[in-house]
Amino acid sequence: MSQCLSCVHCGAEYDIRKIRYVCDCGGVLDVKHDLSKLDGAKLVELWERRWGAKRGIEASGVWRYRELMFDVHDEFIATKPEGNTRLYPGGKAAEFAGLPRLLLKHEGENPTGSFKDRGMTCGMTAALMFNSKSVACASTGNTSASMAAYAASRGLPAVIFIPSGKIAYGKLAQALAYGGLTLQIDGNFDDAMALVREVCDEMGIYLLNSINPFRIEGQKAIVFETLQQLDWRVPDWFVPGGKLGNNSALSKGLMELHELGIIDKIPRIAVIQAEGANPLYKMWRDKTEYQPVRDPDTIATAIKIGDPVSWEKSIRGLEWSDGIVEQVTEQEIMDAKAMVDAAGIGAEPASCCCVAGAKKLAEAGVIPKDADVVGILTGNILKDPDAVIGYHQDTLEDRNIKGTYANTPISIKPELEAVKNVLVEKALEKL
Ligand SMILES: *Cc1c(COP(=O)(O)O)cnc(C)c1O
Ligand SMILES: [Zn+2]
Repeated sequence: MSQCLSCVHCGAEYDIRKIRYVCDCGGVLDVKHDLSKLDGAKLVELWERRWGAKRGIEASGVWRYRELMFDVHDEFIATKPEGNTRLYPGGKAAEFAGLPRLLLKHEGENPTGSFKDRGMTCGMTAALMFNSKSVACASTGNTSASMAAYAASRGLPAVIFIPSGKIAYGKLAQALAYGGLTLQIDGNFDDAMALVREVCDEMGIYLLNSINPFRIEGQKAIVFETLQQLDWRVPDWFVPGGKLGNNSALSKGLMELHELGIIDKIPRIAVIQAEGANPLYKMWRDKTEYQPVRDPDTIATAIKIGDPVSWEKSIRGLEWSDGIVEQVTEQEIMDAKAMVDAAGIGAEPASCCCVAGAKKLAEAGVIPKDADVVGILTGNILKDPDAVIGYHQDTLEDRNIKGTYANTPISIKPELEAVKNVLVEKALEKL
């Protein structure tokens, strides 16, 4: 075996062929690769040859890089295929951020509309490899949508634990539609997470939350694919948002490429958290011990998590990349989203933290204006239509969010004159 599971906290190693989610010390686990057996230049050559494959496992934007995933027989690989997402020039969002060279990697273009598919193909593959008969997760939405779809495609029952309160409609709709057994818990995400871990331990169901070490492996492919799209030229900054799985995967992927000599420059990582769910930001700013946030709250429901499991992996990546952590307000998230959307790209609220944060860091002079910056858009615009409509109809006052750039629908009489009046008023009469 050229991989094992290794504890991020104490370094203990475990057999990758046995199901295990955490170390005996309580620390989270990583898939550790023996990179000494791999040749970086040959890998790049192989990955370039696979680029654009029309079908089969290697048409996947995750399994294209299978040498850095984990050893598994083809028959277990559950791929749709995922990945192969676009890398957009930032357009209006770049202007808004004051970073003309901003690129946006749109992970909302995955099969179920979020980057979760990259981790899920690996997680579901592991479930099949372990001969598990069912899978479960606690989720703020996208993980459940993704898991339900991958489980359905392999005929496995999926059990989903959803926290009470608002879950974005697009995501709930997917979970139900793909046939996941959906349990709404009277409690927040962290409560749902504790419960699902207990249930999985007790009932032998395979756990597919981000504590699952295989999911992070698949998510590394975001950075592999981005760099391949840039012909392996490394940007100055990567700006992921989130509750820390994503940036942990990003830094792990970069570390492996660096160790293999595929890249020699180390980009800086700026992790952006929502002000209402900011445990890593607080720890960073105050140079204190990690402390979960109680009762997290943000319109960016995908990152509404007070106690993210991957915080130790995040810290490792931040230290390695001379990274930083920033936070953004609800208003900043939604204004940045309005600009990502107005650029014709579009993404769900949590995704747009990266643009809001990049703008803040550019204004503070931390990210130079001429820097090459890659932001990661994690989810599709259609995941959360309520947030979009609320902003554009300016009805988010309960969250103190103003529709600064609202594009409000206008009601008119069905008459030519009425249309003309509106066009004149909007200075669009020369259309
Ligand atoms: C899950 C999710 C996040 C946060 O993910 P991490 O892996 O914890 O960083 C951010 N945005 C969207 C759309 C998500 O679905
Ligand atoms: Zn340990």
